Amino acid sequence: MSLPVDAPRLCPWALLFFFIPGLPAAAQPFQLPTANHALFERGGEERFFTGTVGKPWTSGTFGCVRTDGWQMHEGLDIHSVQRDQRGEPTDPVRATADGTVAYINSRPSLSTFGNYILLRHLVEGLEVYSNYAHLSTVRSGLKVGQTVKAGEIIGVMGRTASTRERISQDRAHVHFELNLVINDRFSSWYKKAFPKQRNDHGNWNGQNLVGLDPRAILLAQREQGTNFSLLNFIRHQTGLCRVLVRDTGFPWTKRYSALIRRNPLAETGAIAGYDIALNFNGVPFELIPRAVGDIKSKARIQLLSVNEAEYQRNPCRRLVTKRGNHWELTSHGINLLELLTY
Ligand SMILES: [Zn+2]
Repeated sequence: MSLPVDAPRLCPWALLFFFIPGLPAAAQPFQLPTANHALFERGGEERFFTGTVGKPWTSGTFGCVRTDGWQMHEGLDIHSVQRDQRGEPTDPVRATADGTVAYINSRPSLSTFGNYILLRHLVEGLEVYSNYAHLSTVRSGLKVGQTVKAGEIIGVMGRTASTRERISQDRAHVHFELNLVINDRFSSWYKKAFPKQRNDHGNWNGQNLVGLDPRAILLAQREQGTNFSLLNFIRHQTGLCRVLVRDTGFPWTKRYSALIRRNPLAETGAIAGYDIALNFNGVPFELIPRAVGDIKSKARIQLLSVNEAEYQRNPCRRLVTKRGNHWELTSHGINLLELLTY
């Protein structure tokens, strides 16, 4: 590290701050999970992302990138850069940030993700979960509850998946996600909502995790340096729709209370519900408290508005639909809000 030109004018304590080794780089909380850093190279996308069979690299990014824009891919497929003599991927997979092990699936037949690890992180007070999927092996001895350091090896890239067709050698990748968690009572909600469905992963069922775009986060971190804030990143999502829920005290309002916008009017009376902004993937990124008198409708869940341009760009979650001139929540949208407020 070179000294800033005006270093002699900084107070000695400031210098100490710069030079203490191992100080958490709070402003850039996430690291790439493998040695593939082509994401940060101009034109490096083709070397960084693994597209689906016969499709361009964009199908390995986050978003409505599959099945002509109608299927969501909730993570990044990061291409292998290290192989053994047989061509199998051997890339070490590393923790994206300091955290603890939340869940390990080492029965590949139970998930399209194959062997995967879920880590829990606290970033600016926000609970974030990173997921590393299709691993060949999970590091031996790694256990739920164990703490891991950013950059620590947690497993080895592989091609595991429950699908009948294995991931081909040339498409070997790690599927990497950054998620928020919706509700601690997922298991019991799921049993009630889908009594005939199996739930092999308890609260760590993919439906209880809602993804953020890791590429956008990693690039924003790189661009903004110490000014990067995950909280700001989440707060500045583009809205797909706004809904009003006649409910308070559900887990999201506590876990992600930083996303609640202050509304002094509602706070003077009892809060009866929240006006919630959802992005296209269903992340409730802004919650505005509403007082009893603010809520006219008797409905527990009510669609307030839809950003039509955003729906045109990113419709694949099918949270809302237009019937004639009238927008309404779909069963997917209602399920998400039922789970959120369960
Ligand atoms: Zn993937």
